[in-house]
Amino acid sequence: MTILLSSAELEHFAKVGGLADISAALPIGWEKLGHEPIIVLPKYGCISESDSTTLIDMQIELTICSHTVHVYKTYIHNTLIPVYLLECDELYDRPGIYGNPDGYADNDLRFYVLCKAAFEIMIKLNISPDIISAHDYHTALLLPMLKLDYADHPLFSKTKGILTIHNAQYQGWYDNDRMHDISNWDFLNDPYESQFLFKKLFNALYAGIYFADAVVAVSPGYAKEILTVEFGEGLEEIFQQFQGKLHGILNGVNYDVWNPEMDEYITHHFTINDVEGKVKGRHQLITQLFPSSYNNESLPVFGIVSRFTSQKGFNILKGCIEHYLQEDSIRLVVLGSGDRSYEEYFTALHQRFPKSCSYTQGYNESLAHAILAYADFFLMPSAFEPCGLTQIYAMKYGTIPIVRHVGGLKDTVQAFDKDSKIGNGLVFRDFNAIALSESIENAILCYANQPLMNVLIKNSMKTNYPIAHTAEQYLVLFSNLCDHH
Ligand code: ADP
Repeated sequence: MTILLSSAELEHFAKVGGLADISAALPIGWEKLGHEPIIVLPKYGCISESDSTTLIDMQIELTICSHTVHVYKTYIHNTLIPVYLLECDELYDRPGIYGNPDGYADNDLRFYVLCKAAFEIMIKLNISPDIISAHDYHTALLLPMLKLDYADHPLFSKTKGILTIHNAQYQGWYDNDRMHDISNWDFLNDPYESQFLFKKLFNALYAGIYFADAVVAVSPGYAKEILTVEFGEGLEEIFQQFQGKLHGILNGVNYDVWNPEMDEYITHHFTINDVEGKVKGRHQLITQLFPSSYNNESLPVFGIVSRFTSQKGFNILKGCIEHYLQEDSIRLVVLGSGDRSYEEYFTALHQRFPKSCSYTQGYNESLAHAILAYADFFLMPSAFEPCGLTQIYAMKYGTIPIVRHVGGLKDTVQAFDKDSKIGNGLVFRDFNAIALSESIENAILCYANQPLMNVLIKNSMKTNYPIAHTAEQYLVLFSNLCDHH
C-alpha cells in the first residue's frame, strides 16, 4: 500500500512532543512490512536540510492568496522513506512550529497549505495513495479536502482517509469566515450546517473526524475515555456519534532508537542481564546535574522529561514533592519547557533545594535520553494521557514509571504487586497530591529493598510495545477500509 502521511512534527526534523516520534516510527514500521510511506512536512525555520535541490516548484492558489512552495526531497533519518519538505518562507520560516503560547494567528492558513500541498505533490509525482494518514488538527484538513476537493481526481478516487488523534485537547479553532475564504468549502456557508458542525468557530479536528473514513485514538483506553465529558474536550458527543469508525490503537516504540543496548544518545549501554551500564550512567547523570558536595548516590533518583502543560499533572506534584526534597529523601531531575508558570515553578524549586532538585529548562535530546535511561523512577502523574511514550521508553531502561491510572498510561503500566511480584510500574488512581505521594512513598520503600527493586526493574525492562505491532494494526484497519470500497 502507498500511504501518504502528513503531520506537523517529525523526529529529527521538528519536534515538540510524542507526535514527532510516532510520525517517524509508524512509516518505519509500515516500510518494514513491505509498504510505501511518503511523508509531507513543512520546512520550518528549525529545519536546516537544504543540501538537496528543489524537486518541485509549485503555486498553491487559494481564493484569497497564492503561495509559492518549493519542495525538497529528503529521507526519514537512517531510512529511504521519502520526506517532502515544503519551503514557503512566509508561512513556515519561523522559530517555532506552532507559535507559543497562543499559536500563530495564521495557523489556519499554514496548515491548510500543508494539506493542500500534500495533494498537489502527489499529483505532480503522479502517485495515487491508497491511504492518507492525518495526525491531529494540523493535518485533519486532509480529510475534508479528500472528500470535497479531490474525490473526483483519478489519483484519489479510491483513497481512504484516516485521522489519528494524539491529543483531543488541541482542536484548531479557526474563524469560520476566514476558513471559508481560505478553503472555499460551501458547507461553511450554510448556517445550519455550519452551526451544527462547528458551533460558529470552525473546528479543524471536528472536520477531520466528520470526513474521515476511520478515526484512531492512540490507545484503547483513550478511545473509550474521549466518549465521556471528563475527557472528550467538548467533542464527546461527536465521538459518540462517530463511535462506529473510532478505533483505539496503542502507539508503539522504535526500539532501534530507544534501546539501552544501542541508544545513540547515551554513553553507558546495558542489558536486562547486565545493568552495570545503568549504574555508571546514573553516577554520570548525578555528577553532571548536582554539585559534587551534594552527591548522595544512595538516594533514589526521580526523573521528569516533559512538555510543560497542565495535562502532565504538575499541579498535584506541587502539592507533595517539596516534602521529599525538604527531608532530603530523593533526588529530583527535571527537564522540560512550555507553560511559563511551570518553568518558573521548577526554577524556584531548584533554587530552594539545589541539593536535591535539578532543573534544566528547554529541549535537550541527549539529556532526555540520559534521564529516561539512568533515573530510578520516572514521574508522569498526568491528568489525562492519550498514550504517553516516555513511560514506555523509561520501562525499557528499567526506569520505573510512576503514573496515574488513565488513558495510555493504564494500558501500558501495570501496578507492581509486592506479593505476586507481577507488574512493571507504580500506579495511583485519584488525581490528587495524596494519591501521588503514596506512590512516591511506595517507590522509596521499593528502592530500599534491593531484591524487590531488582524484580521490578526486570519486569519493566521486559515490557515491549514495538512499533511493528502498532504498524500492523493500522495496516489491518487500512485493508478493511480498502476492501470495503
Ligand atoms: P507528549 O506527546 O504529550 O509530549 P509523550 O510522552 O508521548 O508526551 O512524548 C514526549 C516526547 O517528547 C518524548 O520523546 C520525550 O522524550 C520528548 N520530550 C519531551 N520534553 C522534552 C525535552 N524537554 N527535551 C527533549 N525531549 C523531550
